[in-house]
Amino acid sequence: MFPAERRNRIRELIADRHTMKISELSKILGVSEMTIHRDLKPLIDEGYLTKTFGGVTIKYIPIHKAAENHCVVCHKTVNEKLAYRIILPDSKIETACCPHCGLIRHHQLREKAIQAICYDFLNQTTTNAASAAFVVDTSIHVGCCQPQVLSFNLKEHAEKFVKGFGGTVYTFEKAMETNNRDMHGQSCTHPSPTS
Ligand SMILES: [Zn+2]
Ligand SMILES: [Zn+2]
Repeated sequence: MFPAERRNRIRELIADRHTMKISELSKILGVSEMTIHRDLKPLIDEGYLTKTFGGVTIKYIPIHKAAENHCVVCHKTVNEKLAYRIILPDSKIETACCPHCGLIRHHQLREKAIQAICYDFLNQTTTNAASAAFVVDTSIHVGCCQPQVLSFNLKEHAEKFVKGFGGTVYTFEKAMETNNRDMHGQSCTHPSPTS
């Protein structure tokens, strides 16, 4: 494995698990801890990771530092609580205002995207989009794009939410499919100030 491939693999692993030990990475990738240290250096320097005791943890870019504070799809200002971030090779990150725009963009970047991170609607913890549950078309109004798409860490939570507030629970794949099909030929809509 080339160093660049290894760094992408490290990025994937950490995006998934959030925190990893150097020793774990060395075992998984079959290289020495020295090599892992060398691989991690640029990722730490560019602010993607922070060092922890014996390992590294993913660092989320604070809003004011995020390269894009506007949605890549609809250009609306990003509300951090709903943000959907797509991690691309070479430390590029694209930010969408909410899972609605996030899934549209993620679909377009399908081949390239390493990972996407979104927030659990209830706990505000970050979650890996690929394993998240999505609620589409709920009655709760979150003030972003229509049809609304909310992300949840756990399917059970999404199901409970739907019992109370309506909508349909989808897996990542289904949500992306539905979202893109519904959006075909339409631009995303935003609440007008009078609504
Ligand atoms: Zn948007
Ligand atoms: Zn939005």
